[in-house]
Amino acid sequence: MQSAIYQQTIRHIARVSGRGYWSGQPVTLTFRPTSVDTGIVFRRMDLPGQPTVCGLASNRIDMHLRTKLVSGAAEVEMVEHVMAALYGMQIDNCLVECDACEMPGLDGSAGAIAIALQQAGLETQTAPANILVLGDTMQVGDQQSSITAHPTDEMNLKLVYHLDYGPNSPIPSTTSMAVLSREEFLHHIAPARTFLSEQDANELQRLGIARHVTFRDLLVFGPNGPIDNALHFPDECSRHKLLDLLGDLALCGARIFGTITAYKSGHNLNGRMALQMLQQQTQLRKPTPLKLQATASYAA
Ligand SMILES: [Zn+2]
Repeated sequence: MQSAIYQQTIRHIARVSGRGYWSGQPVTLTFRPTSVDTGIVFRRMDLPGQPTVCGLASNRIDMHLRTKLVSGAAEVEMVEHVMAALYGMQIDNCLVECDACEMPGLDGSAGAIAIALQQAGLETQTAPANILVLGDTMQVGDQQSSITAHPTDEMNLKLVYHLDYGPNSPIPSTTSMAVLSREEFLHHIAPARTFLSEQDANELQRLGIARHVTFRDLLVFGPNGPIDNALHFPDECSRHKLLDLLGDLALCGARIFGTITAYKSGHNLNGRMALQMLQQQTQLRKPTPLKLQATASYAA
C-alpha cells in the first residue's frame, strides 16, 4: 500500500546572490512560495513585463557546458544547479525571480542554494505530487556517453555516475552513487563543486570568459591535482556530475522513481533524457502565470 506524497513549496522567501560564471554579472535569486501545480518557474525581473519561463525540458536549448531555458523573451542560463537544489530539497512548486540571465556561479556547487532553501522551510500542499514511475528501461546516447533509466520497486530515485576522461586526463576517473533524500542531497551532493582542466580554464580566460574567476573559486585540475585548492570529497567530480544530472532530469517536471545510470553524460544528453521523460509523463502539470500573480503577495 503506497501512501500519497504531496506537493511541497517553501514556507518563507529565500534569497541567494552572486555573479554569473560566464557573464560576470551580479545576480540575485528570490525564491517565493507558489500554489499547487505551478512547478518551477523563473521570472526575469529585469526585463519589461517580467516574462517567465518554466523549468521544463521542452524549454531547454543545447548550450556548451550549461543548461539554458528559453520561452519568448524570458531566457535563463546555468539553471542546472538551481533546478538540482529545488529537486533535491523536494520542492515541487517555486517561483524563482532573477535580475539577470545567468544564475550565480557561487563556489561552483549548489551548496548555498540548498542551505537557503532548507532555511526557508517546507510547506506541504493539498495536491498529490506529480510522480514519474519508470515503466520500461529508457536509454539515450551511444558508446561514448549514455544514460540508462531502469524501473525500480523502491519509491526513490537512485543515481549513478561514471566519470572517465581517459588515462591521460588530470581529472581522475571516479564513480558516485546516491539514493536521493533531502539529507543526502544537502550534505553529499549539493556541496560538490564544478571542475575543469587547467588547459580548458586557460582557454576560457583567453576568450575573455570568466575573467573574474580565480583557481580558488572553482576546481581546476593541473597535472598534480587541484591547483590552489583541495577536494571536498575524493570523488568530488563525479559527485558534481550527479548534481548536474539531477538538475537536468528535474526538467521532466516530476519526481522520478527509478534507477538512472549515466556514463560520461553532459548537459545536452541529460536534457534529452529529461525530454523523453517529460513526453512520457501523461499527467503533466501546466504552470500558469496567473497563479503566480495570486501567490506573489503570500510571502510578502
Ligand atoms: Zn554543474
